[in-house]
Amino acid sequence: ATMPPLLSAIANAGRHGVLVKSAVAMERLGEIDTTALDKTGTLTEGAPEVTAVRPLPGSGLDEDALLALAAAAEHPSEHPLARAIVAAARARDLPIAAAEDFTAAPGRGVTATVDGRVVGVGRADTDSDATVVQVTRDGTPVGTLALTDRLRPDAAAATAALTALSGAAPALLTGDNARAAARVAAATGITDVRAELLPEDKVNAVRDLERAGRKVLFVGDGVNDAPALAAAHAGVAMGRAGSDLALETADAVVVRDELTAVPAVVRLSRTARRLVL
Ligand code: ADP
Ligand code: MG
Repeated sequence: ATMPPLLSAIANAGRHGVLVKSAVAMERLGEIDTTALDKTGTLTEGAPEVTAVRPLPGSGLDEDALLALAAAAEHPSEHPLARAIVAAARARDLPIAAAEDFTAAPGRGVTATVDGRVVGVGRADTDSDATVVQVTRDGTPVGTLALTDRLRPDAAAATAALTALSGAAPALLTGDNARAAARVAAATGITDVRAELLPEDKVNAVRDLERAGRKVLFVGDGVNDAPALAAAHAGVAMGRAGSDLALETADAVVVRDELTAVPAVVRLSRTARRLVL
């Protein structure tokens, strides 16, 4: 027997490195008319590097002490920023103290007890080309770390293809600061930029578009993206550095690490649906 078109499309998507979870999911991917993308790990590679370590004067910490403190608190976290901070501390051969009472607030940061003191690493009120996180100890700011992440080599090509498929450029929804978001938007031709969003703001942005009658494709990778992936008409997760929750929630997972696979799968779905109808 010949395979039904939607199943053939799933097999073809697999060849493009995309795991589509069901025929219904495959069908939904072709129905979208609007796209919204996460920044970190989606338009960027999701492998940031620490580019500056800035202890506050009066904190009593030097660069190494600040970085080691942040790494201790971030060590249990899977967030790309956490991995970068731990890697930077290791690169300097710094000791990473054991952390207790670790908690992570998606889209905000982490806290943990290190050497008996509560250490926080999270959002800073700094507008910067880089992602900036603030380190606090017992509630007092002790310094900041700057991190930058490379744009994916195919980010602009994927954005252009999604623009062609949905008739308008994608919206960028990110928890990062406005200038870091604007830099990525400018490099990819995106003009609708919404920065400093909390996970609930991302899901509300998707819901607003859906309520206005749009069928939204949301592409993301983080724990913080799971609610938006669920709310969108179709959700695609970037698999390589993606969080388990994002991969579970999405309709499809990009296994091979290419963003252009996303428009490719939308096209496969549309071709299959024409054959079905
Ligand atoms: P994005 O929407 O760009 O994928 P997130 O929602 O994961 O980003 O995070 C938004 C912001 O919250 C980050 O830019 C950072 O300031 C802060 N943040 C989130 N998780 C962490 C963490 N583990 N350590 C430090 N800061 C964090
Ligand atoms: Mg992300």
